[in-house]
Amino acid sequence: MEEECKIQKEELRQANGRNAESASESYVGQLKQCPNCSSRIKKNEGCDHMTCRCGHQFCWICMNEWDKPHKSSCSFYV
Ligand SMILES: [Zn+2]
Ligand SMILES: [Zn+2]
Repeated sequence: MEEECKIQKEELRQANGRNAESASESYVGQLKQCPNCSSRIKKNEGCDHMTCRCGHQFCWICMNEWDKPHKSSCSFYV
């Protein structure tokens, strides 16, 4: 999983380099609340594996804890 995240991040950085303006616009609305402590988290990396400041790790797409099974609607669901 860690390796996958790095690859996605690298791809995002390349995409940003090509079109920085539209990339920053796409951040609008990319805020969610941590299911554990309700802190707002801004998604600003290509990885859907989120780690809150409280240490809670969760999936950006389905909001389940990262090490628990994902919801069937999530693209990480197997
Ligand atoms: Zn939290
Ligand atoms: Zn998920």
